[in-house]
Amino acid sequence: MTSVGRSRGEEWGCGCGPDCFTLDEDGFTCRRVLDAPEVWRVELLMHDTFLPSVNAFVVLDGGEALVVDAGTPDPFNDTRLMRALVRLEVDPERTTLFCTHAHVDHTGLARELSEAGARVVIPEGVLADMRRMGVPSWRDAMVSRMRAEGVGAAEAAELADVIWDHAINFETEKIAFSTVRPGDVLRCGRWGLEVVPAPGHTPGQCVLWEPSTRTAFLGDAVLFLCSTCIGFWDADEDPIGTQLATLRSLAERGVEHAFMGHGLQEGSVSERCEKNVGHHERRSARALAAIRETPGQSGFELVPAMGWHAPFDHWGETPAMTRWFLVSESIAHLDHLVATGAVRREKDDRGVSRYLPA
Ligand SMILES: [Zn+2]
Ligand SMILES: [Zn+2]
Repeated sequence: MTSVGRSRGEEWGCGCGPDCFTLDEDGFTCRRVLDAPEVWRVELLMHDTFLPSVNAFVVLDGGEALVVDAGTPDPFNDTRLMRALVRLEVDPERTTLFCTHAHVDHTGLARELSEAGARVVIPEGVLADMRRMGVPSWRDAMVSRMRAEGVGAAEAAELADVIWDHAINFETEKIAFSTVRPGDVLRCGRWGLEVVPAPGHTPGQCVLWEPSTRTAFLGDAVLFLCSTCIGFWDADEDPIGTQLATLRSLAERGVEHAFMGHGLQEGSVSERCEKNVGHHERRSARALAAIRETPGQSGFELVPAMGWHAPFDHWGETPAMTRWFLVSESIAHLDHLVATGAVRREKDDRGVSRYLPA
């Protein structure tokens, strides 16, 4: 089939198998991924990172809809998500959007849904993240933290600029919303989905849990595609330790059907969580070994010692986003070692932190 002569997106809604329809000519689809509860996966375009796409999930029951996460803002994504909702005969007035966390690839189309009449709901912790991270002062805080870890002034500014606006703040964006707390239950027809904290990837991230079918909507708490990114928070916090606790509690929960922000479930959720715990623990152990071998290095000097598959020989040519992920997760591991008492941090006379065995 050729698309020559047709404008982009003109032909959509084609069948792509049972319980599947296309959202445009690019191969983006909406596909039914579970029967009870009835769940549809809307696959949306992702920018900037190595992840191929981002998911929005639509739960349908009794004429009501619950949309979990709202994709990246993009003119094509706006159309794609709306087309999926039209085709699924979703009534926006009877729709709730729940965002697992504040990142732009999970909140990007909240405005469109809100303006169409949907109720937008976020956990209180996600609102706190929006107030903390979805503001310009967070960019300055990231710059000073990276400077204190020995990153040069120009690179610290470059890395902060590439990432700081990746959280959307609904308050400053004037998107109407209400908040829910851990333990609250969101209703969709006969289903009740419990709000469960899953901090680590962001401080306030929450997942949704339907106990009778053991179905979970996990945001970026754990992915099968890759290890989810854990960046530093404030210097006295321990996002890696927090993420390890989240992974362990998810491993114990007995999730049967998992729907993640990116990609799909491939096997056992508890095994995946345990594996990801091991992955982070090995990385922290490498950092600790490097500090014991050469005490007094800065955080930035320790980055290559942590066993990343990264082109450290061509650091300057590595995309800023990749360098950001490497630097921020490395700093998070150092914060974890400090928080667990394995190493101590001392400032040198230039104000740069040096790491020493405890
Ligand atoms: Zn995220
Ligand atoms: Zn994401």
